[in-house]
Amino acid sequence: MKITSDIIDGVPVIEKLSVDELSAGTHRFFFKATTDSLGNYHRIPVIVVKGQDDGTKLFLQSTLHGDEVQGVDVIHQVLPHLDPVNLKGTVVLVPGANPPGMQLASRYYPAQTETQTLTNLNRMMPGDANSSNAGSRFAYALWHNLYMGNADLFLDLHTDSTGSAFPYFLFADFRSADVCRLAALQPADQIQEDDGIDGSVETELVMAGIPSLTVELGCANIFDPDMTRRGVQGVLNTMIDYGMIKGKVDLLGIESFVGNDDVSIRADQGGFARVLVKLNEDVVEGQDVATLSNAFGDVVATYKAPCAGRVLSVCTSPLREPGSTVVQLLRRV
Ligand SMILES: [Zn+2]
Repeated sequence: MKITSDIIDGVPVIEKLSVDELSAGTHRFFFKATTDSLGNYHRIPVIVVKGQDDGTKLFLQSTLHGDEVQGVDVIHQVLPHLDPVNLKGTVVLVPGANPPGMQLASRYYPAQTETQTLTNLNRMMPGDANSSNAGSRFAYALWHNLYMGNADLFLDLHTDSTGSAFPYFLFADFRSADVCRLAALQPADQIQEDDGIDGSVETELVMAGIPSLTVELGCANIFDPDMTRRGVQGVLNTMIDYGMIKGKVDLLGIESFVGNDDVSIRADQGGFARVLVKLNEDVVEGQDVATLSNAFGDVVATYKAPCAGRVLSVCTSPLREPGSTVVQLLRRV
């Protein structure tokens, strides 16, 4: 644990978190990551709820992609359920891991100087302290000074990108039995069984032996009460199943569809998309899923499902560039 002498708005500033060194109780910190181009530190809010008895360390992170704020609401609504007196183990909550991206409602870590580089932090882990890319240095600080030593289980809360919508959806590496266990505790509509993406928090943690899920909670830039309710239940289920709190796992009557292949249906030209299907709907091969119109209102393309599958993602922003996804399906092959 490295605690600085700084206190901001009554909150101590830390350079490195080590929950093992904290007393039981609820703690608030600002984690001092790297600086911006003016030399000011990015301050990341961290809440630690540590129980009287040792147990599992559960880490909840939200909004590493700065436009995907839904997980902040999940974290805020989970907090009233966390009482150090009745908790076995520790919960670390990070409601907003990418402050500079959040301020721009941007998915990326934005470089502010002449390069204007946009870095996807969820492809940068575990980061590089000597990188020429500020985003990679920021990722390094998160990985080494915030995550490591503080997580036995990790839920990385995301949503679909701006302009598209997911249902409650998980990316999960089913080669790990613990990841399967974590996934089965989430009231998710759909789960994609896959080997992950290099540099993502989830995949790099799983490779480091820390079970992790990427939890996709609907749409960017909003708080959806239903997603919050289900997200909170997913966290509580995890804590119950790992013996951190007492209670009964409740999947809210939701049965997850598990697929292992996603199929993107893309606009072949720019225009205005009208989506004809709904999230979680089953479609058959050849079914019309969307139309594309030009500026005069003429339908210039009708897109069909190339195979049967379940609707995983739809575009919510009608303007489509050539190559951008209109509808995504999940299927089992
Ligand atoms: Zn994301």
